[in-house]
Amino acid sequence: MKPTDIIRPEIGALSSYHVQPAAGFIKLDAMENPYAFPQSLPELLQARLLERLSTVSLNRYPAADAPELKASIRYAMQIPAELDIMLGNGSDEIIQLIAMAVAKPGAALLSVEPAFVMFKMIATFCGLHYIGVSLKADFSLDAEAMVAAIAREQPAVIFIANPNNPTGNCFDRKSIARIISTAEKNGGLVVIDEAYFPFTTHAHESYLHNITEHENVVLMRTVSKLGLAGLRLGMLVGRQAWLQEFDKLRLPYNINALTQAAAAFAMEQYGELLKQCDVIKHERIRLAIALANISGIETFPSEANFILIRVTGDTSVNTEADKMFAKLRSRKILVKNTSQSHPLLANTLRLTVGTPTENDAMIAALNENP
Ligand code: PMP
Repeated sequence: MKPTDIIRPEIGALSSYHVQPAAGFIKLDAMENPYAFPQSLPELLQARLLERLSTVSLNRYPAADAPELKASIRYAMQIPAELDIMLGNGSDEIIQLIAMAVAKPGAALLSVEPAFVMFKMIATFCGLHYIGVSLKADFSLDAEAMVAAIAREQPAVIFIANPNNPTGNCFDRKSIARIISTAEKNGGLVVIDEAYFPFTTHAHESYLHNITEHENVVLMRTVSKLGLAGLRLGMLVGRQAWLQEFDKLRLPYNINALTQAAAAFAMEQYGELLKQCDVIKHERIRLAIALANISGIETFPSEANFILIRVTGDTSVNTEADKMFAKLRSRKILVKNTSQSHPLLANTLRLTVGTPTENDAMIAALNENP
């Protein structure tokens, strides 16, 4: 007997999510915050964190519902009292819980393309029909196409990352509002994924304070881009009626005890983390200006902690981006080659904003003659 005799064919056809080996590289491929946590904190705070972690009893299961951590998240992120919070092992897990919950036979998950690849992958994992609606060439939402696809396909759930990955832009609120109201009429839930929210220039545009205006909206955030990717902690915020259903699918103790303790501590430093995000935002502007001055590179506007660039040349083939990617690699700089992932991304690379020194090294390599 072979595994493929019993494995679902659509799983057999998948490739695993590929993570590039990064040892010895300047790592600008995964939208991490470049400032080490907790090492970049003052020594006193580092000592306090270690003290806090030393009180965790690793022989015990963690708090199943993580009430203390949720309370600190609610306070730090100013989550309205009328909304519930559910925690996931990264927001990846939350996407999966939502997808599992709605996966009736024939149900569909809709997102834009290009978007975060896990929306499509998780749809496949959970046996959902996946519908990808292409963005316009400038990466804005094609509201007409979205409204038509929602009315036609009646997706159970729609994922919209705002800012979007890998394009980096925010979508216009009117188009999002149209999508929400069309989904409401057609019985679909809209998940707004605000993973990159700390880097936006219009923080007031978060959907956090609009969730209660709709029956069919929930919101995801994560601490990963805030500087805590190693903790694996994402959160879903929404009406209790939705979250109590998703919570039934959450495996017991999904947030481990060390993560709970470290994240509760980190929430007390939330202001410091946001300051660091501001530093990254400033560095993004400097990087974008430097990139704009390099001939042969087109830079797309970004409200996230990464910048998408197109290495100009023949966009029907991706050799220019491949060459640039290889050159950066040879300079020990790792970025993401997005050029094969969607036709709109031909010849593109996604560059995470690093420290000023890391960015300077990347700019220097990009400036070198071929
Ligand atoms: N949403 C988006 C748009 C992302 O880009 C990512 C990670 N790259 C995630 C969610 C997943 O984040 P987490 O680390 O919380 O699983």
